[in-house]
Amino acid sequence: MADMLFWGLIGIPFALVVLLTVYDINSTDFTQVILIKQALNGLLNASIATIIRAFIPFRWYSPVTKTKPPKLSKRIFELCLISIAMPSLVIMLILSNNSANKLERELIEELDIRAEHLRERTENYQMTHVKAMETLAASLNSDGLNGHKQFLMDSWLERYPGFITMIVTDSDGVVVSGAPKESFEKLLQAPAKQRRVTDRDYFKVARDTGLPYVSDVFRGRGFGNDPIVAVSVPLYQGNRFQGIVEGSLNLPQFERIDNSGVGSSILVIDSTSKVIYGSARLELKPLDLVSIKDNEQHYANTIMSLVLNGNDTYNYKKIETSNGWSIYVLSDYDDLLVAYKNNFYALLLGILLISLLASRVALKFSLHITRPLERLVEYFSSHQPVPAKAASYFSSREIESVREQLREAQHIMIDFQEELKEQVETQTKELVVLNEELERLSTHDVLTGILNRRGFEQVMGNVYPLACRNKTPATLAIMDLDNFKHINDTYGHSAGDLCLMAVGKTIREVFQRDSDYVGRFGGEEFIALILGGSIEHHLELLEQLRQKINKLTVPHENKDIQFTISIGAYSQVERYEAGYERVISRADKLLYKSKEAGRNRISHQSQ
Ligand code: GH3
Ligand code: MG
Ligand code: MG
Repeated sequence: MADMLFWGLIGIPFALVVLLTVYDINSTDFTQVILIKQALNGLLNASIATIIRAFIPFRWYSPVTKTKPPKLSKRIFELCLISIAMPSLVIMLILSNNSANKLERELIEELDIRAEHLRERTENYQMTHVKAMETLAASLNSDGLNGHKQFLMDSWLERYPGFITMIVTDSDGVVVSGAPKESFEKLLQAPAKQRRVTDRDYFKVARDTGLPYVSDVFRGRGFGNDPIVAVSVPLYQGNRFQGIVEGSLNLPQFERIDNSGVGSSILVIDSTSKVIYGSARLELKPLDLVSIKDNEQHYANTIMSLVLNGNDTYNYKKIETSNGWSIYVLSDYDDLLVAYKNNFYALLLGILLISLLASRVALKFSLHITRPLERLVEYFSSHQPVPAKAASYFSSREIESVREQLREAQHIMIDFQEELKEQVETQTKELVVLNEELERLSTHDVLTGILNRRGFEQVMGNVYPLACRNKTPATLAIMDLDNFKHINDTYGHSAGDLCLMAVGKTIREVFQRDSDYVGRFGGEEFIALILGGSIEHHLELLEQLRQKINKLTVPHENKDIQFTISIGAYSQVERYEAGYERVISRADKLLYKSKEAGRNRISHQSQ
């Protein structure tokens, strides 16, 4: 394609400029033919180069590997074009070239045959009439009888209708008799001076050479003035020159031959370039003087061309007759051009058709390969199941194998994904459980199962401000086991832990309402926020707890551990402290008061 563009855009315009400037060429037809030939040559070279390129290793002419490889369909198209279109193109071009050569050869042959045929006809015509005149001369020589001359000439005229008139002269060139008789009778009356033909070549040459003579064409005088050719033969009495006998020959009848040639014209001229015969198309009359110049712009080396009368150009074949006449067979200069042009257009049409055909084939071919692949990729990338059987016209064994592989790969992938999904789901569930556990651990005390300090403070953060806003009766109590260090020291740390667990259980039992919040505040210290209802009820609950702990026995190594609890409780009814830390510190102080007062009691204060 690039080559064609090159020839279209650069090659041909450049050739045109060179032709117009360097060579002095005035014929546009000729220029066109040269350009067409150049274009065909260009196409041929480009096609051959493209074909050769297909056989050259890729890296030789493309050292830089492209980052993006070309589309498969494009590659296939190129290959198809190279393998189908280019060879066809080369063959077409060669055939076209051959047919152009054949045209040239045929033209040359036709011109040759016609020229040869004409030469033969002309020479025969001349020879027949020369022979006729010789026979007549022989008869006249042997006869010597003046009375028979007229009879002989009349009968010769009758026998050879090519002759218009005949004359016999004496040795001085004076016409002594003529035929047809009627035409000459008047002339023969005239004085001898007026009847002289000594200036005519047909007299002089026949007299001087003693041989028959055929003249160039000239216009007759005396007996009409048609263009004629004179055939003369000298007459002898023994060795003595007696005069000549001359027959005026009508110009050869070329019309009959002329009609048989198609597309070519005939021109016959004598040695002085006067027209003897010219085809009607040439518009030349007998005796016209013509100028013939060789034309230097030949279509092909084998064909000659000429310029007639400085005007029209023809391809031609020239042949000379024995008496120096020239026979030209002329063919229109444009004929070959038209043939070349037609050839070229046929070729262009052929190239177009082949290109269309090749691109159709290439498209079809590329579809066979690329479409099923594209479909498989589509299926694969859109996560649709690759079909089990590709019921496609475009399928092939290789594609089927790829499809099968992809299908398997897809199955493996899907199974793997399912497995992965299940794993993720189980692990997520486990993580949720663990998270919940962690969350619980972060807010609850492991030993007692109630809220730890952090958890309690979180609850307080939410609940306490709300209680303050709603002016809900609230009691905050801090509870500390009495002399717990002693229990630890006496029964061991794990026994202490058992006691703490028992306290936790008891606290849960006492504070069961949704509005009661309890927690382990640290060590053997517990905390409770009791909301709603009355403060009296709050104190009842605390008292209930104190008593339950007092009665509580924790069995340990056949012994029952017993202990008490001190409580500091601070209640708010109408007025509320700004922060709960302040309330805690107040409850803490009340606890300290209970400890001071001897332990196992509740110190309460209400605002
Ligand atoms: P007081 O009546 O003045 O409170 O006397 P106390 O001995 O209880 O004194 P304090 O409250 O200061 O003592 C805390 C003791 O509680 C110290 C430690 O041995 C014990 N203790 C704190 N946390 C734990 C625990 O988780 N398990 C056990 N077994 N003992 C603890
Ligand atoms: Mg303590
Ligand atoms: Mg204590």
